[in-house]
Amino acid sequence: MAPAAKMHFYAELDDALRGLRDQGLFKSERVIVSRQGSEVVCDDGRTLINLCANNYLGLSGDETMAQAAIHAIKQYGYGLSSVRFICGTQTVHKQLERALADFLGMEDAILYAAAFDANGGLFEPLFDERDAVISDALNHASIIDGIRLCKADRLRYQHNDMADLEAQLQAAAGKRHRLIVTDGVFSMDGTIAQLDKICDLADKYGALVMVDDSHATGFMGTTGRGTHELHGVMGRVDIVTGTLGKALGGAMGGFTAARREVIDMLRQKSRPYLFSNTLAPAIAGASLSVLQRLSASSELRDRLHANTAYFRDAIGKLGFTIKPGTHPIVPVMLFDAPLAQQFARRLYELGVLVTGFFYPVVPMGQARVRVQISAAHTQDQLDRALEAFAQVGDELSLLYR
Ligand SMILES: *Cc1c(COP(=O)(O)O)cnc(C)c1O
Repeated sequence: MAPAAKMHFYAELDDALRGLRDQGLFKSERVIVSRQGSEVVCDDGRTLINLCANNYLGLSGDETMAQAAIHAIKQYGYGLSSVRFICGTQTVHKQLERALADFLGMEDAILYAAAFDANGGLFEPLFDERDAVISDALNHASIIDGIRLCKADRLRYQHNDMADLEAQLQAAAGKRHRLIVTDGVFSMDGTIAQLDKICDLADKYGALVMVDDSHATGFMGTTGRGTHELHGVMGRVDIVTGTLGKALGGAMGGFTAARREVIDMLRQKSRPYLFSNTLAPAIAGASLSVLQRLSASSELRDRLHANTAYFRDAIGKLGFTIKPGTHPIVPVMLFDAPLAQQFARRLYELGVLVTGFFYPVVPMGQARVRVQISAAHTQDQLDRALEAFAQVGDELSLLYR
């Protein structure tokens, strides 16, 4: 029998877990037995149309990616058992950093094991108590954590509110450097940050701008560079962070792109870079092939945006309320938490995989199912998904047609 104090620890965890289950906040994992794709097979044998992956360009389960990864493994091997600065840097890592910087229109780039690490290791090496970091209230958890690790003053502005951003810039007037920090695209709503206005404010107050473009790199903007291209501010954003784990193939890995001085300093001081293993060569090689492919052809982007426009238009015509916009994240608003759960469950029974979101992930009364469109969706898959939405909407008397 373990000591009482120790038993107490496990009993408390059990209680807390029961609490999560009772509140309907317990997250469980669905097991997929197939590759990732526009359809997936789950371990209950069901085939589902997948509307909840960040697989925007449809590359995650794509055979060309598997082949590119195998090719890189054959050349560079499976792993390196080293951080970058000891003996963990291969040609392919340098090539990918160069290609990312060029793709994003930045001077240089640095790789991380995840975008979570890129954000976690960004602020502390560059800013201290003499500085202020001014952050959108809905920024990603990894940005919030990264900012907490640095000693700069932390200011928050109301989500997407330029007047409040300006007020916070003024509140931080005495600081040495001011950095504005925003997601390029906010994942719950598909809202795109107003980078043109943010850059104007940054110019007015001599502030720096950092954008996390995890939900945009590879497909937003005319040539897919991201929200800075979309808003015509390439060259005016100081720091871009992003992920290799969404549109760019979906395996894992992240990066920061910026001026050379910034990247040089991150290589010296950024803790997730210094104290965590190098990105696996298979991922580096396959990611490199994606950037080449996206620069050579707009085919995947075009298909993604056509699919998105089609779905947004059709779901609206069915009588559902969606958050307006152009991003492949399409929030279908149901407002009521139990209803959103019921809706997602019923869609699953009809062969469609979506995620229900409700408080505290989204504000009270803003429950929804979030759809994410992919270039890999066929017309037939989108039509069958829409039919299922129509059927569930009718069953639950949500549509006034
Ligand atoms: C997904 C996401 C991340 C985390 O990316 P990983 O590479 O999976 O760690 C960071 N920031 C934003 C805005 C994201 O959407």
